[in-house]
Amino acid sequence: MTYPVPWIKIPVRTALAIWYQWTTRTELPELSKVSVLMRQRNKVENTLRAMQHAGPGTLQVISDFDMTLSRFAHHGKRAPTTHNILDHRLLIDEDCACNMRKLLKIYYPIEIDPSLTSEQKIPLMVEWWTKVHHLLIQQKIQRDMLAQAVQESGVILREGYEVFFDRLAELQVPLLIFSAGVGDILEEVVRQSQVFHPNVHVISNYMDFDANGVLRGFKGPLIHTFNKREGALLLAAPLPELRERPNVLLLGDSLGDLAMADGVARPHNLLTVGFLNDQVEERAESYVEAFDIVLVKDESMEVPNALLKFITSGKDAK
Ligand SMILES: [Mg+2]
Repeated sequence: MTYPVPWIKIPVRTALAIWYQWTTRTELPELSKVSVLMRQRNKVENTLRAMQHAGPGTLQVISDFDMTLSRFAHHGKRAPTTHNILDHRLLIDEDCACNMRKLLKIYYPIEIDPSLTSEQKIPLMVEWWTKVHHLLIQQKIQRDMLAQAVQESGVILREGYEVFFDRLAELQVPLLIFSAGVGDILEEVVRQSQVFHPNVHVISNYMDFDANGVLRGFKGPLIHTFNKREGALLLAAPLPELRERPNVLLLGDSLGDLAMADGVARPHNLLTVGFLNDQVEERAESYVEAFDIVLVKDESMEVPNALLKFITSGKDAK
């Protein structure tokens, strides 16, 4: 028979809880913010310590771009994605813009609908991307106009992006940006933000221009939100810079982004961070279930920067 001893149990538990909070707070206070949700904080901390112990030489970062590295909103207004940046009169006419917005209204709710599986979404995502690319090709977009369109678009990367990009470059940790957006636009945004360092690799949908610099199609296999697994195996896995780096920090804002690390041959430690930008109540549960760390309506890189600082402050750090 066991006798409950509440006067011992409660203070011990309380003391342990306080001690636990105190120790973790000194290590990574950013994880105690109210906007941070975690299913298993213990597991997150163990993974972080293992990654720190292995050193930055074993680390790679894989990140989505639209609404992950770039902001979801700024001053209360939605910030543009790489596809939205193309909605500029220098590049496309009013009719095309109107048709693209109609498609967004139809397909974006499907993309984020928590009641549908990825398998159910895939054919519809392919349909959406194919229709958008077709509309863009009809516009005979000129390559020379892309930089100005980006400049005037109001696109903005998350607060603290410079620290994130610069630290990775300084430690020569490869950053793979894996995007279902438009690669040419994405590269221009990163370039204009002055963080296109030599350690940055991009896998995305690239425009194919003719000899006169006029858009005539898109190159390579189509990448949409829910086929990043195929892209990872086909395009990321062969990259020599990534092959010998078994520890992965992954950032995304869609459940489909979790597949971006599927090309890593023998992952030792994988830590996934999900930005939950939109429809928080409906999606919080599925995000907490799927990502190790969920950042709710956080437009900054504060937490990823803190994770990176912790991981790379071990033995090999400069
Ligand atoms: Mg995204």
